[in-house]
Amino acid sequence: MTPILEVEDLTVRFPVGRNVFGRPRAMLTAVDRVSLAVPRHQTVGLVGESGSGKSTLGRAVLRLAAAESGRVTFDGVDITHLGARRLRPLRPRMHMVFQDPYSSLDPSWEVEDLVAEPLGTADPSASRAERRKAVVEALEHVGLSSAHLNRYAQQFSGGQRQRIAIARALVTRPDLVVCDEAVSALDVSTRSQIINLLEDLQRDFGLTYLFIAHDLALVRHVSDWIAVMYLGSIVEEGPAERVYEDPAHPYTRSLLSAIPRLDPSERSRERIVLAGEIPSPLAPPSGCRFRTRCPHAMEICAEVAPPAVPAPGGGWSACHLNGGDGGVGVALDKSGT
Ligand code: SF4
Ligand code: MG
Repeated sequence: MTPILEVEDLTVRFPVGRNVFGRPRAMLTAVDRVSLAVPRHQTVGLVGESGSGKSTLGRAVLRLAAAESGRVTFDGVDITHLGARRLRPLRPRMHMVFQDPYSSLDPSWEVEDLVAEPLGTADPSASRAERRKAVVEALEHVGLSSAHLNRYAQQFSGGQRQRIAIARALVTRPDLVVCDEAVSALDVSTRSQIINLLEDLQRDFGLTYLFIAHDLALVRHVSDWIAVMYLGSIVEEGPAERVYEDPAHPYTRSLLSAIPRLDPSERSRERIVLAGEIPSPLAPPSGCRFRTRCPHAMEICAEVAPPAVPAPGGGWSACHLNGGDGGVGVALDKSGT
């Protein structure tokens, strides 16, 4: 089955600053030649530190950020440069749920209008009664009810606000939902309730999720497949269990080493503390982008960008330690996977 979403060689760049002539002072590469496939009815987790480009990638796949090059294919349609008129019928089929339900929901709107808003573009001819019916159904699916219709978002707790945001994403019966740190701001018990809700909705409505988060333990729990992003590029991908149990890239290992092992029978991990901050995407390091923080950096890492090589157990990683380019591994053609 073809994936519902395919990203090929996607680059997104932003202008930074303006000179006296109004021209950008520099261009920042937020997403650098990324390829990623998201199979139908599955969850692909996208992890990395803040500043790695994951949110920009999430926005670009929904056409909320413009691609400079590469391609985004949604359900077989190349949407990379689709005009507004031809994009309109696809809009209801893809939504985003943001991290902060406090700022993503206008406090001066009633819940009914907040949840109904995406219907306006999906089905402008719908009657008020039809719209209300769809809104009440969406609210019921997230554990709220018609009793909440005329209240304001500010009257709700963080968890309930995120339920309203999910109802808003659900009301047009989408195929793809991008969850951008959708549970990161919630306390632990609310977080697990919202994750359970997202899993129930996935099963009931056949949803596909691109689940963006900085917390690898959380992503492992919800994902079928995990992609790890660093400074605009994916450095490793694979089945969630494989990436978590047997990470192939030093960056993934460092992310994992920060997660405490709760089960004493599990193999313990050596804590790897990375030096410094993620470098500025305005001046990324040559060769391997991770080399300024990698405990294993070698001479070749500054000169040659590591190729993607297959990882035992599925997926791939891009690190000279794992071979490729004259090393022990076999270079992988990502476009063929
Ligand atoms: Fe570290 Fe070199 Fe591998 Fe990059 S290619 S992750 S610098 S060992
Ligand atoms: Mg972000």
